Amino acid sequence: MARKLSLLAQHMANALPHSLLNGAIVPTNDARISPLDRGFLFGDGIYEVVPVYAGKPLRLTAHFDRLQDGLDALEIANPYSRARWAELVHELIASNGGGDMGVYLEVSRGAGKGRDFLPEPDMQPTVFGFCFPITPPKPELLARGIAAATLEDIRWQRCDIKSIALVGPVMLKMEAKRRGADEAILVRGERLAEGSSSAVFVVKNGRIATPPASHERLPSITRLVVGDVLDALKLPLEVREVRRGELPAADEIWIASSTREALPVTSLDGKAVGEGGPGPVWRRVFDEFQALKQREAG
Ligand code: PLP
Repeated sequence: MARKLSLLAQHMANALPHSLLNGAIVPTNDARISPLDRGFLFGDGIYEVVPVYAGKPLRLTAHFDRLQDGLDALEIANPYSRARWAELVHELIASNGGGDMGVYLEVSRGAGKGRDFLPEPDMQPTVFGFCFPITPPKPELLARGIAAATLEDIRWQRCDIKSIALVGPVMLKMEAKRRGADEAILVRGERLAEGSSSAVFVVKNGRIATPPASHERLPSITRLVVGDVLDALKLPLEVREVRRGELPAADEIWIASSTREALPVTSLDGKAVGEGGPGPVWRRVFDEFQALKQREAG
C-alpha cells in the first residue's frame, strides 16, 4: 500500500508561481477572486487542462473547441477570441519558464451582487489559469501499471460538459483510494461510462474498444490522440458501448487523460487484468504516443 501511494503522489503537483487572472499574469499567491463568484457559490463554470511539452501545448485547438462547447452549454459568453486565448496561454507558459507542464484554465460566470440561482444580466466572466509541472510516467509505474476500482457513476447527466462542479469525482476518487486504487472506472448499470478523470479503452483478443461520445462521458482530447496513435499503428479502434462484464474479462485496460497520457490498468477490483502487467498493445501505443508528442510538441 505504501508503495502504491508513493506512485500516486507523483500526480500531485503544486501550482507554478505565475497565474492568469482576467487577462493579466499575476503571482499565483496574490491572485484573488470574489467570494461571490458563481464558480465558488454554484460551481457555475467550466475548465480545461492542456498538456504542454517543451513549452508547446498539445492539441490546443481541440481544447479551445471543447471550452467553447462548455461555455455554449452554460450560456456563458466567451470573454476572448481564439487568438487572444492562445496569446494568454502562451504568455502563461512563458511566465512559468516553459518546459513540460499542465495548464489549467477556468472560466466561471463571474461574481454577482448576491446569490441568485438565475444569473444577473451582463455578467463579466472570471478567467483564471495556472500551471503545474508534469513529468513523464516513472519507469516503475510503466512497469507495474495502475490499480482501478469499478464504481457506480454517481455524477450528473451532463458529463459531456467539463464542469468545475467536481464533487462527484472527488467522492469517487476518495472511495477508489480507500479501496487501494489509483482510479475509479465508472459504470452506469451494465454500461461502462469512463474513468473518474479519464477515458477508458479495453483490449480483448487484440481488438481495441472504447465507448462512443454521449452525455455520459467527457469528449476526451487524449482519446482523440490515442485514436491517432492507433491509426498510425494501423490498429483498428471499435467505438461502441462496452459492457461492465467485459472489464474483468479484458486482456488489457488503459486509461487516458491529458496529464497521464495512456496508462495500463493492471489490477481491477483487486484482481489481475490479463496477465497482471502492462500489455503488449498498450506498450506499442505508449511508444507511438511518445513519438507523436515529439512530432507535435517536441
Ligand atoms: N473524463 C473525465 C471525467 C475527465 O475528467 C477527464 C480529464 O480530466 C477525461 C475524461 C480525459 O479528458 P482529456 O483527455 O481531455 O484530459
